[in-house]
Amino acid sequence: SIPDGPGVSPARTAALRAEAEALYLGTRPKTRAAAEAAAHLLDGVPMHWMVDWSTPVPLVIAQASGARLVDVDGHAYDDFCLGDTASLFGHGPAPVAQALARQATAGLATMLPSPDAALVGDLLAARFGLPYWQIATTATDANRFALRAARAATGRPRILVFDGAYHGAVDETFVEIGPDGRVGNRPALMGEPRDLATLTRVVPFNDLDALEAALADRTVACVIAEPVMTNCAMVLPQPGFHEGLREITRRHGTLLLIDETHTLSTGPGGYTRTHGLEPDMFVAGKAVAGGIPAAVWGMTEDVAERFRTARINRPDGHSGMGTTLSGSPLQLAALRANLEEVATEAAYAQMNRLADRMEAGLAQVLSEARLPWHVARCGARVEVVRAPFPLTDGRQAKAAHYPALEATTHLALLVRGVLISPFHDMMLASPATSQAQVDNLVAATRNVVERLVG
Ligand code: PMP
Repeated sequence: SIPDGPGVSPARTAALRAEAEALYLGTRPKTRAAAEAAAHLLDGVPMHWMVDWSTPVPLVIAQASGARLVDVDGHAYDDFCLGDTASLFGHGPAPVAQALARQATAGLATMLPSPDAALVGDLLAARFGLPYWQIATTATDANRFALRAARAATGRPRILVFDGAYHGAVDETFVEIGPDGRVGNRPALMGEPRDLATLTRVVPFNDLDALEAALADRTVACVIAEPVMTNCAMVLPQPGFHEGLREITRRHGTLLLIDETHTLSTGPGGYTRTHGLEPDMFVAGKAVAGGIPAAVWGMTEDVAERFRTARINRPDGHSGMGTTLSGSPLQLAALRANLEEVATEAAYAQMNRLADRMEAGLAQVLSEARLPWHVARCGARVEVVRAPFPLTDGRQAKAAHYPALEATTHLALLVRGVLISPFHDMMLASPATSQAQVDNLVAATRNVVERLVG
């Protein structure tokens, strides 16, 4: 089992936190003033989770380019968070920036296709291997629409998610297996009076027996899964898991939706293409259009046909999908530029080389400090996991999560000029990241770890 303690002393963590906080506040007068000035934003931020980062007041970024950020006080950071994957290919890749500038004078939002539309469909089909595509504005929406299409196509009411997974703000996925083994709404979920477990089943990742049992009554329309769980630290699939997942879903007539929003870090066609998965539906958001709000969802010929038939059978039918800005000329221009010119084989090769260096450097730091942690990896995505062995499911991931220690580590790295993803220990390598930046990350981590273990 996972050890009780994360391997560092609470007193050392508190001392490092106090020191980093004093340094952060003492050297950032404009950042502090910006927080005070934001009187008419709820919690002082444009999006509430910005106050949940490790910083005593939010970092305010004046400039983001490549893999480098500069705050309003002029401090520079090596950015390994990259907007939690939205900027996986670096901030403002030149081809995307140029396409956006061109499109700005040719129409931003028309609710009609632009000449890029057909080409974007071709690019998505060639890259991800499914024949039919739709554009949404967020990965959350793409997942919602895909789940709705799955229900319409199968005529079944339920979905299944893996315990500990995150697929965006999709209401019906906010369920978990409680300590008593019962499935229910996440206890901390606010403003949700419905019992989401009525229509959502939950089983542990990597548990094919539980999956088999949950699909046996053939009421589940769709399993939604990240191929690697990336939102609760990192949980890798065990050998045979994906083969089993595909075989069991097929046998029970349940569609398989693979959400590649984060695992796009694996390679140009996501984890799906690298590992030969065969999903019925596919979602990617965030980085897919180089950081502007766009997401894509795709389906097989079979799903498309069943969805079409369902619509023909309901001539009065209303899809319940859409959003006005989805499929906009702006999104199409950015998707085209990103897929054609930015997210290339060469870019991924470079990202993987950098991530190799990151993984090796961080593993060395952990081993020198004799910490019972390890480094997990999914292409350009690297995660320090606070457990001695690979995690197998969401429950283990939860047990390996130490919020106070993680926040302290993040703030201590920040004042050393390194930004990593908030809420867990995730780092990304972009094609714009330099080897020197990776070496800075490793050196700063060594410095912080030495302070923690003494
Ligand atoms: N799917 C996965 C796997 C994600 O990690 C996220 C966000 N972290 C989403 C979907 C939702 O993306 P968005 O917030 O852009 O809607």
